Amino acid sequence: MNCEHSKEILIRYGELTLKGENKKDFINQLRRNIELYIPKEELKVEYDRAFCKYSVKNLKSLKYIFGISSYSIVYKTSTNLDDIEKLVIEVAKENSFNSFAINSRRHNKNYPLNSSQLNMHFGGIILSNFSDKKVNLTNADLTIYIEIRDKYTYVFSNYINGLGGMPVSSSGRVLHLISGGIDSPVAANLLQKRGLKVAFLNFITPPHTDEKTTQKIDDIISLLTKYQGSSTLFQINYTKIMNYIGLVSNQKYKITLMRRSFYRIAQKIAEKYNIKALSNGENLAQVASQTLESIYTISEVSNLPIFRPLLTFDKNETIKIANDIKTMDISIQKACETCELFAPKFPVTKPNREEVKKLEEELEKLNQLEDEVINEIIIKKFDII
Ligand code: ATP
Ligand code: MG
Repeated sequence: MNCEHSKEILIRYGELTLKGENKKDFINQLRRNIELYIPKEELKVEYDRAFCKYSVKNLKSLKYIFGISSYSIVYKTSTNLDDIEKLVIEVAKENSFNSFAINSRRHNKNYPLNSSQLNMHFGGIILSNFSDKKVNLTNADLTIYIEIRDKYTYVFSNYINGLGGMPVSSSGRVLHLISGGIDSPVAANLLQKRGLKVAFLNFITPPHTDEKTTQKIDDIISLLTKYQGSSTLFQINYTKIMNYIGLVSNQKYKITLMRRSFYRIAQKIAEKYNIKALSNGENLAQVASQTLESIYTISEVSNLPIFRPLLTFDKNETIKIANDIKTMDISIQKACETCELFAPKFPVTKPNREEVKKLEEELEKLNQLEDEVINEIIIKKFDII
């Protein structure tokens, strides 16, 4: 549009039911998050809307920010009725349409026309400037939105869905057990959606796991970092513990013992970094190690809450999200996974706490080895590029 009107992006917030302090915190966190992507001087945050300069880069960034319900590319003019008329006509000219609707809102209740009067007025303007156009209030080809605020008016004809959810970090932090599989990356993204900033914990067992395994983890975390600005990965070389657990007298319990060990280590790392919850990509009854008895026996070792966002998901629901967030293509690449390498032929599906404790007594060096691998932890940082 050859327009003297400036082009901006109007941003709407999610969770509009929030009130008082909660709403203030929500908006402040959202502002900090948007500023990770969009320069401060290009952004203006108000109590019910944010505005930023239009650029392709800014537009792309908004796709990754939780807490935004929708956004629109808008043209800005004054609140003067003549100016708005001119702009409405220009926006109509930009589009090809037969039927149209006008959707007006006035934020300033002192504005001389109310929203239905505004709709009537601008509907009349379109009808008198364009021949053969019809009003259609239920299924129009073109809807022109007019939002009159205190100082400016915004006119637009597009609505882009945002991610919804809560701003990342508004709910605190979680330590997430991540593998190169399909599930745990999706679970991480759902936790981000509820406002958690996710720190990652991954166990590797070189030389059984190789470059490809760690590359997959790095690639997955790079993708997930787009949703939270920066990430930390804690990586543990678990080989000597895996070999040690392999000596246990009841081989069916190897995976259960390893999982308990994972969560003891996770708990210690979380405590050190003041993180108040753990999480994983588990799903009830999808694989042998994810039965209720197994979850019961494993979660005993940690007194932190363990979030399992995928607990009730069908596999195809998980895969749909994995495709949406583009982790699927990475997850399906072939690489050696720690758990798969270690799984006995017939793992116990209903482990019990008494048996597992007996076996842990056999493995008397287990706690000491866990402390050792924590001391040798690898810490990697990720940023949005
Ligand atoms: P995923 O697709 O996430 O690997 P899965 O259905 O294959 O899950 P498992 O491999 O049994 O199931 O793993 C269950 C959960 O345990 C994972 O979702 C992840 O949270 C955690 N986990 C598994 N392997 C590792 C690992 N090497 N490092 C850290 N966490 C792991
Ligand atoms: Mg797996």
